[in-house]
Amino acid sequence: NKQVVLRDYVEGFPRESDLLVTTGTVRLSVPEGSNAVLVKNLYLSCDPYMRNRMSKLVGSYIESFKPGSPIAGYGVCKVIDSGHPNFKKGDLVWGITGWEEYSLITAPETFFKIKHTDVPLSYYTGLLGMPGMTAYAGFFKVCSPKKGETVFVSAASGAVGQLVGQFAKSTGCYVVGSAGSKEKVELLKNKFKFDDAFNYKEEPDLDAALKRYFPDGIDIYFENVGGKMLDAVLLNMKMHGRIAVCGMVSQYNLKQPEGIHNLFQIVVKRIRMEGFLVFEYYPQYPEYLEMVLPLIREGKIVYVEDIAEGLTSGPAALVGLFSGKNVGKQVVAVARE
Ligand code: NDP
Repeated sequence: NKQVVLRDYVEGFPRESDLLVTTGTVRLSVPEGSNAVLVKNLYLSCDPYMRNRMSKLVGSYIESFKPGSPIAGYGVCKVIDSGHPNFKKGDLVWGITGWEEYSLITAPETFFKIKHTDVPLSYYTGLLGMPGMTAYAGFFKVCSPKKGETVFVSAASGAVGQLVGQFAKSTGCYVVGSAGSKEKVELLKNKFKFDDAFNYKEEPDLDAALKRYFPDGIDIYFENVGGKMLDAVLLNMKMHGRIAVCGMVSQYNLKQPEGIHNLFQIVVKRIRMEGFLVFEYYPQYPEYLEMVLPLIREGKIVYVEDIAEGLTSGPAALVGLFSGKNVGKQVVAVARE
């Protein structure tokens, strides 16, 4: 059983060498009398929040990974053996699993069963999984968008951002995204049909860049990066604007988070800034599927994935999120069936 193990708690930027690919043993059946489920991991999801779990955490909403043990994350899996009445051999599921070939899941109740297989299975790590639900909840539930409003999305070509942009377009909003390379900017404009996009790495003055794209200001900011971008956005929000704080990926590797200088704009512009965590919205997953599946089948929503082949490519894929190596949703394909 090949596994990806955390070597030790990480400080600063994670490196590939912080994760070791090793081989452990696994029993290919569920112990007698247990209601665990044994799964074969097919696709593993690389998500920025996993960086937090590589640190020694105290008082967080999640626990640290254990040094010396396989790390864990969202994945698409096939049930090999089951002691649980709700799961049977051959079922396809998505949920939290180990970064290894086979995992024994002791609390399988948290898994979602995959019922629609006419779409790529890997989509359940992205568009049809946690990031999809994040874009849906963050944009529709937190931002309450209206037709004609102006929307700005940062990390816009990633797993979550590419969907927020497309949801915004389907709502009749004007949407601009920022991303970290020319290739990503082209994707935003040509593939995901953002109204416009820019490479934040080539903008010495983010405030001026935003003024160029939003001369009348921003109604909705979908925040993925934090730091300097957030500071510049605060100066460009419209009266009664909304900011959905989804994440702050530019801050995850810093020992000391960057200071934000323009928070008083929240008062001046009566901005509503709200953080959210996707798992609180999981009860609405069926409602999301009902909305999004027809759009995928009709080609009205597209999704770009960056698939790394094999578990051994996992450490580089995960660490690559923090230098923007991924183009689209970063997935690790462990096995195809
Ligand atoms: P992405 O697929 O967008 O991958 C991360 C991207 O972040 C990189 O490709 C890179 O894109 C960008 N990035 C990395 N470092 C920096 C930096 N220093 N400054 C600016 N951009 C940077 O990730 P996701 O779509 O999965 O996640 C997006 C955000 O959503 C993250 O903040 C994540 O933590 C958050 N999230 C929150 C959830 C919640 O429940 N609240 C659930 C899921 C995700 P580029 O090349 O454009 O710089």
